Amino acid sequence: MIEMKKKALNVHGLLMEKFGEPIWRNPLPAIDELVSTFLSQNTNDVNRDRAFDSLRAKLPTWEEVRDAPEAEVIEAVRIAGLANQKGPNIQRALNQISEERGELALEFLKEMPVEEARAWLIKFKGVGPKTAAIVLLFSLGMPAFPVDTHVYRITGRVGLRPEKISVEKAHPYLESVFPAEAYYAAHLNIIRLGREICKARKPACAECPLSKICDYVIAQKQKTLPAT
Ligand code: SF4
Repeated sequence: MIEMKKKALNVHGLLMEKFGEPIWRNPLPAIDELVSTFLSQNTNDVNRDRAFDSLRAKLPTWEEVRDAPEAEVIEAVRIAGLANQKGPNIQRALNQISEERGELALEFLKEMPVEEARAWLIKFKGVGPKTAAIVLLFSLGMPAFPVDTHVYRITGRVGLRPEKISVEKAHPYLESVFPAEAYYAAHLNIIRLGREICKARKPACAECPLSKICDYVIAQKQKTLPAT
């Protein structure tokens, strides 16, 4: 584990040298972020944002979204895809939050230990560890490390996590290897690396700042060595 922690720090340092301090879009209030992450499942950022804006334009308050006919919400978020699941999941979560808290706000989670706040969020249908970690990290400033498809792929290739670990289990694992103060920048810089260099089909290892410490590169070199 000590070696893994050193490697994580190394990855973080190399990505900071390459990309600098990343800045995420303006943090949204936690409820907005929760709805946005529901919409982001299996779609791209552009369609997620279009669906979010369309929902807000048609139903400007979260209370209106919660109380609207299901079909209206489904129609408003259609562009994000899987609207028949996402619309009802959003309304269900908003209803549950209202019932439990008496208002549509999640800022109370900041007062909880992070594990309790995470458990509170993932009880909603459609909220997994990634969605919960995004809300915790970006809206509430709490120490959580979201593992999306880029983070999962790259940490696997680099050798920053056990190969066979599930994406769910990769959350606590990566939280244990990166220092909490690096979560924000490391998460965003790894995603950028995944979009620009370490793409799913064809990683551009020759351009990659991690090539000297990446297990994938080491394995490729070993494959090309002549058999002795
Ligand atoms: S060296 Fe290659 S496989 Fe490793 S992280 Fe970089 S692009 Fe991905």
